Amino acid sequence: MAARQIRIFQIAKDLNISHTEILTFLKSKGVEVASHMSPVDKATQDMIQAEFHKERQDIDRFRKEQVRREIHQTRIDEQQKTQKKLNLLSLDEQRTLEKQEQKKAKQKAKEQAVEEERKKAEQVEQKKQAEQKKQKKSVKSSQHKLRKIDLSEIKSQIGTITRKPPVKTDKQEPAIRSAKDAVKQTLARMDKKTRKKVYKKERKQDEEVKFTEGDIQKIQIPEYSSVDELAKIMEVNPSDIIQECISLGKLATINQRLDWDVIEMLAETFGYHAEAVEDIAEELFSLDESEEDLDKAISRGPVVTVMGHVDHGKTSLLDYIRDANVVAGESGGITQHTGAYQVDLAKERKRITFLDTPGHEAFTAMRARGAQITDIVVLVVAANDGVMPQTIEAINHAKAAGVPLVVAINKMDLPDVDPERVKRELSENEVLLEDWGGNVQGVEISAKKGTGIGDLLQSILVEAEVLELKANQDTMARGTVIDSKLDKGYGPMATVLIQKGTLKVGDPFICNNYAGRVRAIMDERGHRIQEAFPSEAVQILGFDQVPQAADIFSVVDDARALKRLAADRQRTKREIDQRKIKATTLDTISAKIKEGFVKTLPLVIKSDADGSIEALSETLEKIKNEEVGIQIIHKSVGLVTESDVLLAAASGAVIIAFHVQVDSNAKLQAQQAGVDIRSYNVIYNVEEEVNRALEGLLEPEIKEETVGRAVVMEMFKIPKQGFIAGSRVEQGIIHRGANARLIRDDEVIHEGFITSLKRFKDDVKEINEGMECGIGIDGAGKYKEDDVIVTYEIQTIKRTLEV
Ligand code: GDP
Repeated sequence: MAARQIRIFQIAKDLNISHTEILTFLKSKGVEVASHMSPVDKATQDMIQAEFHKERQDIDRFRKEQVRREIHQTRIDEQQKTQKKLNLLSLDEQRTLEKQEQKKAKQKAKEQAVEEERKKAEQVEQKKQAEQKKQKKSVKSSQHKLRKIDLSEIKSQIGTITRKPPVKTDKQEPAIRSAKDAVKQTLARMDKKTRKKVYKKERKQDEEVKFTEGDIQKIQIPEYSSVDELAKIMEVNPSDIIQECISLGKLATINQRLDWDVIEMLAETFGYHAEAVEDIAEELFSLDESEEDLDKAISRGPVVTVMGHVDHGKTSLLDYIRDANVVAGESGGITQHTGAYQVDLAKERKRITFLDTPGHEAFTAMRARGAQITDIVVLVVAANDGVMPQTIEAINHAKAAGVPLVVAINKMDLPDVDPERVKRELSENEVLLEDWGGNVQGVEISAKKGTGIGDLLQSILVEAEVLELKANQDTMARGTVIDSKLDKGYGPMATVLIQKGTLKVGDPFICNNYAGRVRAIMDERGHRIQEAFPSEAVQILGFDQVPQAADIFSVVDDARALKRLAADRQRTKREIDQRKIKATTLDTISAKIKEGFVKTLPLVIKSDADGSIEALSETLEKIKNEEVGIQIIHKSVGLVTESDVLLAAASGAVIIAFHVQVDSNAKLQAQQAGVDIRSYNVIYNVEEEVNRALEGLLEPEIKEETVGRAVVMEMFKIPKQGFIAGSRVEQGIIHRGANARLIRDDEVIHEGFITSLKRFKDDVKEINEGMECGIGIDGAGKYKEDDVIVTYEIQTIKRTLEV
């Protein structure tokens, strides 16, 4: 781990000096720091220590010397006083005085003994209190309830207090305190406000009596709790937490969410051992099967993805299957792109679901987001082309996901094709077809003519049988969003692949932390249906917001309670996301700037469909060179909302609204926060504008251009104006006010502006080539014959991107 970064104010506190002193010192040393809150590295720390440590030693020495002198002086004074007294006293009086002194000493010794005893008693009492507190905590429910005052507890406390030896306290209180005082004190101790103080005492006590690990109370705290929530959980004052945060070098507000390590530290400070609460909603967003699910599981149809090299016929195959095999009489009925469709094999009474986004990106993107929805991959290889790079890529993807392959050797209708070559090449890539002694099924097809497609479907079914695909239908539906859009008529809608349970119209659900209720279920042909079962991909209406592909869709019991829960999760997630992004912008960008001046343009992309988002981000991500690039910090389907604006504001991003409107509140907020929202309907325009934006970010090229050149012939002096160079312009034009260099023997001896320019006795603005004139350069001093004066201009050239 790198050396701990310490903030300036902490060092100042350590050294007992003002942080402004450190800041001034660092400035004088050329070390740039933003404020006293800035962390400094080890080298700078050492530098500060070296500078101020000596000073501190001097101060300390001086202080000590002062104190020493004071003590010495008081001693002398006292001695003198007693001497005086003694001198005046009679012998008898002296004896009584001595006796009194002895008595005093005895009394003191006695008092010390009593004090020690009192301390011991206090230790016992506080240990007892800590134990009581612990017991109380353990019975306390997780909900924050009003604090109950337990009489028996007070009584016992009074008991302990009164049992204490009657000694004088520091504050010279009466030795025996009244019961009323004791109750007051106990109540005060139980009061939230003084709780921290009380705790601190306990802690000190803990250290003294050396509590074992087991004595520290465990406390359940959700991750990313805010200061306020944490205060409620630990029953302390939020301001105490804020104060602690400051001493940890972290400025926090009451609503600020804290990182887990900070929470742990705070909990420890307040005497607890923090344990992260398992997210109760987490279970909702998992597709894991319960024991009950496994018990009740019945057979389900396979879900298939088609992959392969470009132009090998993936789309043709999907199109053919869709057109030829949709339910009788409905051929060609699917006009919409919904992300998936079912194929019914009437004879076998089986159904196969095809995810109709061919290509690896969709598969990988889903997998990257943790969604494993494909049971079987159909690998299309063109017989005339063989195994190509993307074929190998597809094999690797399927292998990584642990999904079995069925190979479709396509374009068998073409003349002179060699399927054996394909099989050999496949075997070289560890895909052994059955007739090559392996266990991968291979079918020769023609997507164009439709030959072999039936066999392919059969092979898929065989594979599915081997896999024994099962799901529990008799439970609340769960699935994964595979496509989504904002429909002009229907509003937000999504295609969801049901993975378990039965989905019914009216079911309340949670998806992407948003709650909703199923308003309608439609199949891929837009027909309304009442129910959907595992392995079916259906379009669902009833979303509040457009969900994202790979979001988990989860039907729940109680939508209302869950809506709140979902809202909470959503808020927390948003806050966390924002904080994360802030962290990236601050840390990574500044680091990058330091490393190699990398500049990025952060973007939030909103669009009407998942497909266009992908196309857009792909296009935009291509616009970059070594110096600048874009960073897509968020992309999703739907209106530009307030949360998008918040996100953009937090990360200095520009919002690209592609084919979508901007929510009116978001507009207002964007104006206030100074967030740039740009709406487009054509990808090309987005590309062009982003290009321009990036050009604006590029460092302009700075170029110097010589404008004029003059040779000094003689020097003369003009009263009040100083020395003037009588010169002749040899090249270009000399302007008054221009940047100039005075060159002597090929060396630049001075740089400055041309402050005076004269033609004979008149001041002029410029002198052309071939003319004689008087030139005065700001601060140049004397001139000599044959000196050269060159004037120049600095041009900043806006650079264009060379992609
Ligand atoms: P994809 O890029 O893998 O989706 O490939 P496409 O389905 O777009 O097909 C690429 C080209 O191959 C198209 O021109 C198709 O017409 C052609 N094609 C696809 N399947 C066959 C086939 O079975 N036989 C022949 N002759 N051509 C095909």
